Amino acid sequence: MFDKILIANRGEIALRINRACKEMGIATVAVHSTADADAMHVRLADECVCIGPPSPSLSYLNMPAIIAACEITGAQAIHPGYGFLSESARFADIVNEHNLTFIGPTPDQIRLMGDKIAAKQAVKDAGIPTVPGSDGAVESDEEAARIAQGIGYPVLIKASAGGGGRGMKVAKSPEELSLALSTARTEAKAAFGYDAVYLEKYLQKPRHIEVQILADGFGHVVHLGERDCSLQRRHQKLMEEAGSPALNDSQRYEIGKVVTDALKKIGYLGAGTIEFLYEDGKFYFIEMNTRLQVEHPVSEALSGIDIVREQIRVAAGLELECKQEDIKLSGHAIECRINAENPFTFMPSPGQITQFHQPGGLGVRFDSAIYDGYKIPPYYDSLVGKLVVHGRNRYECLMRMRRALDELVIGGIETTIPLFQKLLQERDIIEGSYNIHWLEKYLANLPK
Ligand code: ADP
Repeated sequence: MFDKILIANRGEIALRINRACKEMGIATVAVHSTADADAMHVRLADECVCIGPPSPSLSYLNMPAIIAACEITGAQAIHPGYGFLSESARFADIVNEHNLTFIGPTPDQIRLMGDKIAAKQAVKDAGIPTVPGSDGAVESDEEAARIAQGIGYPVLIKASAGGGGRGMKVAKSPEELSLALSTARTEAKAAFGYDAVYLEKYLQKPRHIEVQILADGFGHVVHLGERDCSLQRRHQKLMEEAGSPALNDSQRYEIGKVVTDALKKIGYLGAGTIEFLYEDGKFYFIEMNTRLQVEHPVSEALSGIDIVREQIRVAAGLELECKQEDIKLSGHAIECRINAENPFTFMPSPGQITQFHQPGGLGVRFDSAIYDGYKIPPYYDSLVGKLVVHGRNRYECLMRMRRALDELVIGGIETTIPLFQKLLQERDIIEGSYNIHWLEKYLANLPK
């Protein structure tokens, strides 16, 4: 096992990783930009190294500075968290070349899953159902038109290098196809420097359901059930729950088995998430995330398994601590993403926190790095906390989330708390009947 781990991230996730390390008796190194010198992740780690100015490209994405921080402190492994360098195969390669351990899958696995066309083919070959569409990249307008005719409109053009919802365009009819293709290509080229696109059937009312898996180097792969992340705005998740209100136990175990069997074939290592769209009782793969996800705590609440701990164990060459038959998913969990944003316009609202009270009580977890007096810098993601509640059933969980949101006080800045307070009064949310378009429609219909 490692003696010392460097955490190449900031905010709540850096703190989250620090906690797992502490419980395993592992010393920690925080890295930070000059804007984060007063951050909680820096205070709670055993050592810290300043790696550059506020701009992420000069600090949290600065590979030489992070490797140097490892060498100075003697850290043996790097946990990348989510975002920043977590899905950079090149960074994982560089880490390995320096005889350090990247806590995550192999560089080749990151590369494979980061190329959406190759990923789709690989999981399809391993037995995972995918969205009907083109076999690989579409080269010409004529080829796209032929495929779209075959699967039927509307169709979605997606960038092979896509991420964060960029480079995606819907064409509702043959007339819209050519423009959608060229816009998607231009957007993909600008955002990712690579303009390969592919075509998929556009599902009209799907839910976003994803399966959390863990895999070790001994051929063991387990799943921790699914998360329903259908409440999204601009393809960004805002609230997640486990289990999905749309699935029953047999569907849950069936999709879990399909996923674990496939990842055994692929030889995957570490934690990962297979994301699906789910419509009319069928699952369609959309992508695999080869890292820890923001919403991982809802799966931890149901399973009692510390996902970061398992990531570290597997990276150190140990076996997973849990076997599928021992994993019991109990009760229900919901996560609300508390962002420093206006709750209805979503305009970022960085600034100083003048008042802070954290909710508590049975079944409540608040993952955050903020504190009274903390100044949220304007340079980074607006996520400032994750409120996660667990209950014996969905009803108890909803009631608990309402009261935890009422207890949570973050003064001085705007947050998404009022949005969740409103959402948890909505009949569709209470009944669990929503799809990936529900929130956008709801927000569009709110009185201005
Ligand atoms: P990204 O990597 O950019 O986040 P994803 O492939 O994960 O892209 O898709 C992001 C979101 O886009 C999904 O959660 C879903 O809301 C929507 N989406 C993706 N593929 C389809 C599809 N075939 N039909 C309808 N919506 C889709």
